[in-house]
Parts: sequence; C-alpha cells; structure tokens
Amino acid sequence: MNFKKDELYFIPLGGAEQFGVNLNVYGYQGKWLAIDCGLGFADEKFPGIDILLPDPAFVEERRKDLVGLIITHAHEDHIGAVQHLWPRLKCPIYASPFTAAVLRKKMSENPLCKDAEVIEIKAGETLNLKPFKITFTPVTHSVPETSALFIETDVGNILHSGDWNLDPAPTIGQPTDPAPFKKFGEKGVLAYIGDSTNAEVDGMSGSEGDVEKGLAALFKECGGRIAVTIFASNIGRLRSICLAAKESGRQVALLGRSLHTMVSAARDCGYLKDVPQFVSEDDIGYLPDDKIIMIVTGSQGEARAQLARIARGEHQEITFKAGDTVVFSARPIPGNEREIIAVKNNLAASRVRIISPRETKHCIHVSGHPAREEITQMLQWVKPQSVIAVHGERTMLEAHAALALELQVPTAIVPNNGSVIRLYPGTPQVIDHVETGLLAVEPGRILSADHQAIVQRRKLQFSGTVHATLVMNARGDLVTDPQVSTVGLVDPDDETGQKFEDDIIDEIEDILADMTREELYDDKFVSEEMRIGIRRFVQHKLQIKPKTTVHVVRV
Ligand SMILES: [Zn+2]
Ligand SMILES: [Zn+2]
Repeated sequence: MNFKKDELYFIPLGGAEQFGVNLNVYGYQGKWLAIDCGLGFADEKFPGIDILLPDPAFVEERRKDLVGLIITHAHEDHIGAVQHLWPRLKCPIYASPFTAAVLRKKMSENPLCKDAEVIEIKAGETLNLKPFKITFTPVTHSVPETSALFIETDVGNILHSGDWNLDPAPTIGQPTDPAPFKKFGEKGVLAYIGDSTNAEVDGMSGSEGDVEKGLAALFKECGGRIAVTIFASNIGRLRSICLAAKESGRQVALLGRSLHTMVSAARDCGYLKDVPQFVSEDDIGYLPDDKIIMIVTGSQGEARAQLARIARGEHQEITFKAGDTVVFSARPIPGNEREIIAVKNNLAASRVRIISPRETKHCIHVSGHPAREEITQMLQWVKPQSVIAVHGERTMLEAHAALALELQVPTAIVPNNGSVIRLYPGTPQVIDHVETGLLAVEPGRILSADHQAIVQRRKLQFSGTVHATLVMNARGDLVTDPQVSTVGLVDPDDETGQKFEDDIIDEIEDILADMTREELYDDKFVSEEMRIGIRRFVQHKLQIKPKTTVHVVRV
C-alpha cells in the first residue's frame, strides 16, 4: 500500500472484529498517530493462553514517523497491551493523569519499559502532535478520566469516541457534557469513529447511581458472606459497592492484585475519598460473616483469578459455604461464557447463592457503553459526514452502521482489522487492507496467535500423540525393542492401555519386515513410512488421527 501525504487515513489494527485488542492509527502528511493499545481475552481456541494483544507490526515499521500513542482510558481493552508492546514502539505516550498513574504501575512490571515517557494531559487540554491537534474531552464511563478525542487536521476533523455513555448520575466524574460535542459538530466533522458495544441495545445504558441503590437493597437481603466480582478497572462500580456496603453495615475487603493496583492509582489521583478504609485479607476471618463484603477479581471466569480459586476451594484464607452469596456485577464478554459457567458450577456445588444481573430484580450492573438512544443523541450533536463503527463484535458494528444510516448520516463503514479507510479526499471509504493480526502472551514470551506452537496445541487437544523411537544398527536391524509412548489416547497405566502400545510395537515390526535392505538403510524413509503406518494403525483402531513422531537412532 502506497500512502499519499495529502490523504487522511484511519486504520483499525485491532478491535474491529472482536471485543478487546483495540489499536487504532491515523495517518496524514507521512505521520502516524496511534490511539489505544489494549488486550483481549483468549478463548479455548488458544490453549494455554489467557491474553491476546493486537499485532503492532504496522506501527512498528513506521516508528520514526509515529508522533505518539494516546490512551483514552484505563480499561484493559485500551491500556492492557502497552506494557507488552511499548518496547516495540518506543514512542511518547499521552494520557489523563489517572490513566497515566495506572499505566506507570503496569509498565513498572516490565524492565523493558523503564524509559517509557507517559505525559499527562488534563481534561479539556489540547495536544499538538503535528499534523494532528487533539483535544481530550471528558466523557462518562465506568473508570475515571475517560476521554473522547477531537482530532483536528487541516483537511478535516475527526471525533474518536473511545468508550462513553450518557449516564445521568455517574458515581465517578460528571455526566457527559453535550456542549463541547455540539461545538465540535459546528466546526464540521468528517468522521465519527465510535464505540459499537451496545449498538444492538435499545434505550439508554442506565445509571451507576441505580446500581448503588440496587446493590444496597440486595446486600440488605443477604445473610452470610457476600462476594462481588467486577472488572478491577471498574472504579465506578467499586465505589458503588463500597457505598452500598456502608449502607448495609458491612466492611469491604479487596481480593486480587489488579484491584489493589487500580485502587491505589485511584487514591493517588484523589478518587475514592469518601470510601472507608478496606479490611485487609488477613482480617476477613475475624469479622462476622454478615459484616463483610469481598470485592474479588475473576468476573470473566479466569481460572487463575481469585474467584475461580475460591470456588475450587484452592484459596488459602477464604472459603464460601451454604448461605453465602456471590454477586456477578459485570457482563460476560463474548467467548468467556464457558469459563464463567465453570466457576458458577463450583460455587453451586458449595450451595452458594449466585446472583447475576439478569436473574435479580435489583439493578446490579449497567453497561459503560452507549445504547441506541445515546448513540442517536451523540450523532445528533456531532452531525458527522461519516460513521465508522469500531469496538465490538461484527453484529454490534453492523448495528451501529445501520443506525447511523437510519439517522441520515451520509456514509457508514464497518471495517475489518487492517482496513485502510481514506477519510479525505472524497467520501470516506475502505481503499485497501494492511496485514494485522493477534499476538498471544505466554509467561516467558509473546507469540503470533497463529504460531505453529498454538496451532499444534489446538490439534493435540483433539488428536493426542504417539511417539516412537527405533534404535537400529548400520545393517537396518533393530538393536532393541522399539519404544512407544502415547499421550491423550489410552490410559497408559491400565492393561488395555499397555496392550494398545504393545500392538503399536507389533505393527512397527510388521512394517519393518516389509521393507527392503536399501529402504532400511535410509533413516528418512524409515521414519516417514513408520509415521504414516502408525497413524493409519491408530486411526483404524480408534478412529482418531494422532500427531505422530518417529525417531530413528543408528548405533
Ligand atoms: Zn472502557
Ligand atoms: Zn473498551
């Protein structure tokens, strides 16, 4: 793709095909501006992987022309990849003071990020990163200091919405002020690049103020211990829980490292001042059951998070018993449903009462993203020439684009990850596609998500493996019995399992007996014929094609 200096481009490198992994870039005058760099959750298609990242290769290749990375807010799907990917970008980072505080804590965990510079931009401030002029405009969301970005260039203006809603009574920060949006609309907006998460949901997203009341009413009905699970970054919800707890005469403890990180960043920035001190984890046991509420990580069923560990009975300090209550005050992210059900099953086995948003009359969760009425309101304020739907699954993006067209926006685009959208000159449209993808985070390395290691792991889940070693002399005779081991096919410790492996050995000997002397001299030939033969034999026996490897050793 040949980028022209006088054209204005938008490319979503991640976040346009799934929830999470947001990474967006704008290009103009040979310069590039990146917005957000977030993680996504891996589902069972990625065995052994918890976290996915957007592939930053496109931006990395243009690093010398990258004017900066802006983070709109401190949610993981916008901020969570920075500590992994910054070493490949090495550009200045711009964020609100709270977002910067969270980012610095996260980046301090990676020594490769020690030179990273995070520059704080306050609400309403304008940042000049030529040829882009960016104004941080506060919006309501479930985390403090969330910004929509007004991006001005000399060929047109863009509103990059980030995540937002029109909660009339937020528990953190102020309701979104329409005035700056209307004013920006009056200047003329070429493109609105916007949050599609709730574009399929009618009405308004609701109010965090109602959640606080709903939780307080629910807590009063509960005896025993209460645990509430949320996203650690949902500081608005955390405050609602604390205030509701106070009203119901309970103290609050935090379980989970990411909660402590977020809360300490929030306190450093002057938030949560009216929230009482938390009870330490060690002191939970000294409080009567009906005087404690635990806020725990793991609302998405993450196996290693606190909630899943407690539910499995693997937590050192905390156990749940009949009569205790676990409240899921979060929405399942698509793809996490199975893990969440697994956690709920474990809780149910301990006769713990489980409360989820859909199964209670109380309001215990509202979304931080705009529903259809809110999107409509925003588009009426801004009156953009085009809407580009990002941040969501395909059906959400399509619903967002359809709504925009219904509202007489002249152009609506549903991009894919890597779509090159020319915003200027002419009508905005997809003109090309650049290579992008996902990366998978392992404890010791980062791999491409379609790396053979992961592809093979996925296959192994279904097929099992057979390994055979043949020790042969120079004449092609076996020096000792072939060694065979299988994984995921039989129980190697019981009789039928051992018989199965013995049968494979007999098969190996039969295959060798059919080979000529010349063939037996050829290691490659022997191992390949043997691999095919063993695979065929197992398929005949079990109707499964195992991953098969054969080593020929000459002595
Ligand atoms: Zn968010
Ligand atoms: Zn988001």
